[in-house]
Amino acid sequence: MTIKITVPRRTLLVLCGPAGSGKSTFAAQRFIPTSIVSSDYCRAMICDDETNQRVNRDTFGLFDYIIQKRMYLGRFTVADSTALHAAARRKLRALSRRSGYYGCLLIFNTPLEVCLARDKLRQRMVGEQVIAYHFDLLQRALLDAPSEGWEQAHVLGADDMDAEIEVME
Ligand code: GDP
Ligand code: MG
Repeated sequence: MTIKITVPRRTLLVLCGPAGSGKSTFAAQRFIPTSIVSSDYCRAMICDDETNQRVNRDTFGLFDYIIQKRMYLGRFTVADSTALHAAARRKLRALSRRSGYYGCLLIFNTPLEVCLARDKLRQRMVGEQVIAYHFDLLQRALLDAPSEGWEQAHVLGADDMDAEIEVME
């Protein structure tokens, strides 16, 4: 069964999932590139390296800034980061509320083996240890999400990569 999700235009769609779970691919298949705010891309913009974890503060400063500017202008926005830490989701939920935005959380519950296999095919590997850690955080996120105050929270399994998202005008 294809999952069908309908959200208003003034929605912050927050992707959440381990590296290699398919977040960026899923977003790119559905939304115009400028509507997707990617933490990897923000990182690359300031230090030329998508994987440099030493610039997290500035990366997420830029990430939040762009998201807020888009919401101020009433644009539909996708937040593409792992959002695996409760604090990261809390912040995005707070930002969306502050802008009078609807908060929709999409959790990518892709099997560990799949994420690991995809990571191995990548040019810049995240590595097995980091992805295993992401999976611990994912289990926590699956438990916590229902009580985090999202207007909608969906869990997408490996078979749900055909989910349809309709943005109402
Ligand atoms: P992210 O780290 O969660 O953003 O994951 P990506 O979207 O970058 O996907 C990681 C890798 O898996 C990329 O090489 C994608 O081409 C591949 N990938 C993503 N989604 C799918 C999918 O549905 N099917 C297959 N076969 N590969 C996928
Ligand atoms: Mg990505």
